[in-house]
Amino acid sequence: MYRILISDPLHPSGISLLRESGAQVDVLSAEDKPRLAELLPKYDALVVRSGTTVTAELLAAGERLRVVGRAGIGVDNVDVKAATERGILVVNAPTANMMSATEHTFALMLSLARRVAAADASLKSGAWDRKKFVGSELQGKTLGILGFGRIGQRVAARARAFEMTVMAYDPFLDEEVARRQEVEPASLEELLPRADVVTLHTPLTEGTKNLLNAQRLESLKAGALVINCGRGGTLDEKALLAGLQSGHIAGAGLDVFSKEPLTDFELVRHPNVVATPHIGAQTKEAQLRIAKDTAEMLLKALDGSMAVTAVNLPFRSVSAQAELQLSLGERLGRLASVLLDGQVRRVEVDFTGVDASLHRPIGVAVLKGALTPAIGEAVNYVNAEHLAASRGISLARAEHQGIPDYSQLLQVRLEGPEGSIELAGTILGARDARVVSYRGYPLEFRPEGRLMLLRNDDVPGVVGKLGTFLGENGINIGNIHLARRKGERDAVAALLLDSLPSSAVVEDLLAFPEVAEAKVVDLGDRI
Ligand code: NAD
Repeated sequence: MYRILISDPLHPSGISLLRESGAQVDVLSAEDKPRLAELLPKYDALVVRSGTTVTAELLAAGERLRVVGRAGIGVDNVDVKAATERGILVVNAPTANMMSATEHTFALMLSLARRVAAADASLKSGAWDRKKFVGSELQGKTLGILGFGRIGQRVAARARAFEMTVMAYDPFLDEEVARRQEVEPASLEELLPRADVVTLHTPLTEGTKNLLNAQRLESLKAGALVINCGRGGTLDEKALLAGLQSGHIAGAGLDVFSKEPLTDFELVRHPNVVATPHIGAQTKEAQLRIAKDTAEMLLKALDGSMAVTAVNLPFRSVSAQAELQLSLGERLGRLASVLLDGQVRRVEVDFTGVDASLHRPIGVAVLKGALTPAIGEAVNYVNAEHLAASRGISLARAEHQGIPDYSQLLQVRLEGPEGSIELAGTILGARDARVVSYRGYPLEFRPEGRLMLLRNDDVPGVVGKLGTFLGENGINIGNIHLARRKGERDAVAALLLDSLPSSAVVEDLLAFPEVAEAKVVDLGDRI
């Protein structure tokens, strides 16, 4: 049973989800908050919002801690680097508020186009002034989207419903996705003079800081509207105010600012500005989704899944189907490492018929498996690369060049101080993982359960002798796979056992003249 500690207020639906999983869930009271570090050692997971600062010291106190759930998006309050070094996964809810932000973009756009906020204020002041509030329609206008990611694409779909022409600028734009959405991909230079409304949906990076600078704001079509419901700092606020004052820019809808909370109100007080205090994500639905998404990710992460939205996984979340390949890679790495007694210097993975986007995740999985015999459970997907680098273990990945025997194959080669081990595996059907090549022998077995791997002389009676010996020691054999190469005296075998033999039993086995090598490993449940 997992123990989960929640140290900031979380929507009750998230707490219920965690409890329904059977976990013990404790909510930290305000009085106990100063004792967080003292209480944390008992817990497997910690859930925070922005009210808890997760420092390196706090993470060090969490001896059992495996996952930190940040119920939200930003992780400024979590020392992600320290978490990575400790192998602690940091999961968040990056998509929970995208619909709220998308819809708020339209709240600002329509409010600007129809001067809703100004007309409302006028009416409330007791005036009935219809002539003053002549707006414009969105239909037939051109919308320019800067940043065609999750929110940018959703804004595009809704703009199409308003019968707007949509252009998008994004240096990483997928043209196929744009075409499907009837969106015209464009450079900034093409987009700015043509758009009636420009809306920003980029993160704040070196490349997007002041993306809409003075010069670009000047290149806008006269009378354009500018909206920023993305991140503050992506437009030059002084230049925007100048553009509004000159009348070149007809209006601006702003939810985010370069400095928050706002202290200089000159821009937002301009009559053609509609502004809100960063409320793009402030909806009941987003709060609920944040709590649910975080709880779901946390539980999945505790169960060892890699299909999670983690901040510090060295790759993007993978599909459930791809997790099979990660598991196979990990088990091949582990098997090869056991055969080298955990002494690994270099890891190579060769892919046949495996989607290129999975090469890195599978490489990390192989590293994880390769390091496990030496490091144990402390190695995981989060810190495998870091631990390997700190031990001078290199990883090489390559696409198979020759003619493949299998439509899909993972070949793993581990180099130790005294030689190397090569294994290959594949996934058959929906979920049947197999080792198909073992040290150059055509040995096939499932990489699961308690295995004994033998190298022995290929002489009559040896299998019976081994079976009898293991039986005398109370060890039952579930199945046995054998392989040899033509004309060779050496053979290999993989035995699935009901229980693992003790090291004394393995020693006795090695005393048999026919047995050259015997290794045991528990690979756990079926993939
Ligand atoms: P996303 O990562 O899915 O998309 C961002 C897009 O920006 C990507 O496609 C990326 O390629 C693009 N991009 C990067 N550099 C660029 C550049 N130099 N020029 C143009 N495009 C560039 O993110 P998202 O979920 O769509 O969120 C977009 C923004 O909205 C984020 O900054 C997020 O913080 C913000 N946001 C704000 C609120 C709010 O409360 N107002 C709520 C949710 C999200």
